[in-house]
Amino acid sequence: MATLVSKLPTRHAFQTDDKNLLPIARKVLAGERLNFDDGVALYRSGDILAVGWLANHVREQINGNTAYFNVNRHINPTNVCVASCRLCAFGRKKDAPGTYTMALEEAWETAASGYTEAVTEFHIVGGLHPELPFEYFMDLVRGLKLRFPQVHIKAFTMVEVAFLAKRGKMTIAETLQAMKDAGVDSLPGGGAEIFADRVRHIICDHKIDGSEWLETARTAHKLGLRSNATMLYGHIEDDEDRVDHLLKLRAVQDETSGFQTFIPLAFHPGNTALEHLPTTTGMLDLRQIAVGRLLLDNFAHIKAYWQMMTPKIAQIALRFGADDIDGTVIEEKIYHDAGATTPQGMRRADLVRLITEAGREPYERDTLYRAVTRSEDAFTIAV
Ligand code: SF4
Repeated sequence: MATLVSKLPTRHAFQTDDKNLLPIARKVLAGERLNFDDGVALYRSGDILAVGWLANHVREQINGNTAYFNVNRHINPTNVCVASCRLCAFGRKKDAPGTYTMALEEAWETAASGYTEAVTEFHIVGGLHPELPFEYFMDLVRGLKLRFPQVHIKAFTMVEVAFLAKRGKMTIAETLQAMKDAGVDSLPGGGAEIFADRVRHIICDHKIDGSEWLETARTAHKLGLRSNATMLYGHIEDDEDRVDHLLKLRAVQDETSGFQTFIPLAFHPGNTALEHLPTTTGMLDLRQIAVGRLLLDNFAHIKAYWQMMTPKIAQIALRFGADDIDGTVIEEKIYHDAGATTPQGMRRADLVRLITEAGREPYERDTLYRAVTRSEDAFTIAV
């Protein structure tokens, strides 16, 4: 068993009996960037605890003992979608059973309903509706800003932005600027899936391709709109596809510094065209968090999204490289249509308990990672 000593006050020295991890550990402890082969070796290592130790080391260097969460609400204005992604259980064709499209008043009422603690963020994503005009989405955002001026609006994935650009006959930059003018404050990270064409053609061939996703993110960042970045794993991708995806995100982040958080999303096959595939295991979920933390050395935050990986695995992930577990969510539709068995939302107190029992310090953040101070029914953001 080989050991290496870190300069951080860690609980024990790095230990592994996987000789392939030793050169990687030396790089991590020296603060050096990992390469493609290192990423593949991390995915293939049999010593998950050693991989987790390294990721935890980096996580504590960047974020100390803090674990972030927020009080947010998801709003999915429509599940009508022109695409037929095999990975998806949420989108439906226009006249299919179970479709819905919220009237604007309904969306604004949804935003205000069912939760007593003041939310600091609306997370808005939905289907690619063939008939809703561009202005519907801008009015939705304007109406929310009017009614909830303090709430940060994180809206529309890169895929939706590209679709809205087509609907509005505008460039991507013009679309993003119009969204910004309407009140969009930042973008979520969805729709990235896996960038490799081979995989993308099978799981979501109607979506923009990987380079268009990255270019849309780049354009958003240049306009001052920050975004998150995701990766859907646990379907037909291989280790090389995962590393390729992470390194492409890292390259854009080197250029723009516009990504806030990396969020690996565990694939839920239920009710999708890939229903024959198994769900992810806890070990893969933890490894994904750890490798993300180690390869994405220019990302400040790695999120263990509790809705996707269960609260229990998300809690453990706070020791495998994650520093964020997302928020209250309140009403999640997309993964529950795919058979997720997690609750649709969590109370603030539950999130605090998960974090505290992981031995981390809970820190309520707004979308931009600023501290939120809360009284009974209001909040203040440190700016
Ligand atoms: S993943 Fe998104 S774009 Fe694809 S079918 Fe589902 S809602 Fe539509």
